[in-house]
Amino acid sequence: MDWWLRNRSDFDASIDRDLERSCGSKDAYPSEEAARAVAAMNGMASKLFTYRCHYCEFWHLTRQKT
Ligand SMILES: [Zn+2]
Repeated sequence: MDWWLRNRSDFDASIDRDLERSCGSKDAYPSEEAARAVAAMNGMASKLFTYRCHYCEFWHLTRQKT
């Protein structure tokens, strides 16, 4: 994370919006397994997919694009 903060000035405001969209309203999980387990628990395993966030380095669930 440090490298990213140090180089923040290289990024424009769209990155901040992207960060907010990626992390702001989503739960973060420590592993893909944990994220998938939560999706399954909610009966959403087929509707959500997991991805590793390159901002917070945790895993998020997001709705599958149809
Ligand atoms: Zn994130």
